[in-house]
Amino acid sequence: MSGGRAPREVRGQGDATGGDGIFCDVCGGGYRDLLFIGRDRLYGVPGWFPLVRCQDCGLVYVSPRPSFDEMSRYYPQEDYDLYNKAAGLKDRSLEELGRLLGPRKGLIERYRRPGRLLDIGFGDGSFLYFMKETGWDVTGVDANEKMVELMTQAGIDARAGQLEDAGFGDGAFDVVTLWGVLEHVQSPRRTIDEIGRITGEDSLLVIYTQNAAAPEAGLLGPDWFIYEVPRHLYSFNLGNLERLLAAGGFRVVETVYETPLYYCQMNWQYFKERRLRRPGDVVHTPSFLDRLVVKGLSKYKKLVDGHRWSSAMTVYAVKGQGVRS
Ligand SMILES: [Zn+2]
Repeated sequence: MSGGRAPREVRGQGDATGGDGIFCDVCGGGYRDLLFIGRDRLYGVPGWFPLVRCQDCGLVYVSPRPSFDEMSRYYPQEDYDLYNKAAGLKDRSLEELGRLLGPRKGLIERYRRPGRLLDIGFGDGSFLYFMKETGWDVTGVDANEKMVELMTQAGIDARAGQLEDAGFGDGAFDVVTLWGVLEHVQSPRRTIDEIGRITGEDSLLVIYTQNAAAPEAGLLGPDWFIYEVPRHLYSFNLGNLERLLAAGGFRVVETVYETPLYYCQMNWQYFKERRLRRPGDVVHTPSFLDRLVVKGLSKYKKLVDGHRWSSAMTVYAVKGQGVRS
């Protein structure tokens, strides 16, 4: 076979055709570089997972990708911390929740007045609960059945399973949010397509996810905490995320960058553990050295916060003209 450019028709179509993570889910490209073969650093579930980067759009993804059913073994079965938080929601004051979640709500309401909101992968449910108590008509969908049960008991419309299983009607929502969720789904393209269907014109889509353009990603490789294989099946940068959203009819209007200090602490913990062979819990029982390093890292965090080099980003994207309602 002669060299040169590959004809476009030999390139893959991603998961839309039932792929298993061999082709890029954003652009369909098949040319990619192996970053490293990683393992579960957080829970220590056995297995090795190759992480690759698409040569066309830079999407980082686990390839081959474990199926939805296989993924369930990589999540802790009983997360009591999560359950306790959800069960205690009614006892928390709106002021307290507002301190944590007010900025998110404020940004959303810059683009949309309170209406119908869907939170995909609602975690401890605090965002759903807070939005409901402050005038929004909320719905949640989550794979954790126990959490769905707890939210239902709290009077919230919550559905179990993947987004595609919920069967929401066309144009059912004005705002859809995914806080740390898009990196976990089987096919972000399929998720965004479905969000495109269930949102009306001028709706708002909000996505919080890690930013693979952060310098730590390249510097630390397998020790970058939020590569988080195998649970994070994808790591985006702003460019490929914009491209994915555009395919679903959404245009990014605002990006908020931040570097959570917790990420910096965990980066140091992973680096120390693998490169220096010195395990230790930096977050809960920090040594003198840990405290010194984390002090330095918090300075770094302040330096990059708000910059496109931050390790996490929240994108606000509008559909159609995005005129305020
Ligand atoms: Zn790609």
